[in-house]
Amino acid sequence: MTHQPLTPAAAPPEVRAYGPIKFIPGRKGGRYPYCHSLVIEGEETWVVDPAGDKDYLRHLARTRRVTAVFISHYHEDHQKYNYLFPEARFYVPAPEAEAFRSLEAAFTLMGLDDPQARDYWGEIMVRDFNFRPLENLVPFEPGQRFRQGGITLEIVAAPGHTPGHSCFYFPGQEVLFLADVDLTPFGPWYGGQTSSLKDFEATLERLAGFQTRTYITAHEQGVYQADEFQEALTAYRQSIAQRDDRLLKMLKTPKTVKQLADGHFFYGKPKDPPFIYHHIERQMLTKHLERLLGQGRVSHAGGAYLAEKRRDGASLSRLGEKNCSHPSRSR
Ligand SMILES: [Zn+2]
Repeated sequence: MTHQPLTPAAAPPEVRAYGPIKFIPGRKGGRYPYCHSLVIEGEETWVVDPAGDKDYLRHLARTRRVTAVFISHYHEDHQKYNYLFPEARFYVPAPEAEAFRSLEAAFTLMGLDDPQARDYWGEIMVRDFNFRPLENLVPFEPGQRFRQGGITLEIVAAPGHTPGHSCFYFPGQEVLFLADVDLTPFGPWYGGQTSSLKDFEATLERLAGFQTRTYITAHEQGVYQADEFQEALTAYRQSIAQRDDRLLKMLKTPKTVKQLADGHFFYGKPKDPPFIYHHIERQMLTKHLERLLGQGRVSHAGGAYLAEKRRDGASLSRLGEKNCSHPSRSR
């Protein structure tokens, strides 16, 4: 049975409260370059991923003393408005802490090598995403719990998207903030050099068993109840295998990574800035192709990849007689 990607509902247009936790819808329906944020109001005021709605967050900064900002991972669309909270401590994933201090460290995690690309993207990070090196950093680790005013925030490891990507669980309110396990029709994103397809899949498997009442993503639909979450997660997980299938079909004739990236395999159309999206396409393609190569489902020669012909049915049994039933063993 194949599942089509679900058509997600729109994000709630208004602030929603789950006890002391507020869901703040991001601009543009929580699409990049924005994300949905959380505000936690107990004895102290905390913010999660401040890149949703500048007006709301600016008003908050003027009327409350925000003591802590929790950031799920180093991507720019989760920390656009950090600068509104100069007095806060910034809690960030330990494996990525350097990327909050320096653009060079962020570029290294992305795998952005070209000096011109780094200069160009660096300017965008400063101009459009207000990047400035964070001081007052507190690196966190999975399993750590932070408490205030009877509210607990627990760090849940969710690597894959980035090495330190983390979800935030609020057991008292039964809310899990999934960050960029975003359940969008695009599917999982692993377009950085240090992103991992394997880790992302393991994360999705673990999260499938994570039972709670409300699940909140950082992008698009945003709010999911338990049954919706399971359905959306199933479709999201399946999109990885669908990408493999689509790739294998295209590789009936040999193609290089560049040719596949030039065809916008993942995004379907050109996006700006082209060199960043080309980089992402190449990263994601390479992760699929390397795995397919390891599985003996594609071969690689002269810089191009080619799908192995399926050796099933009659041809497989014939090969089996020669103790050579698996394509990878025949090379
Ligand atoms: Zn991200």
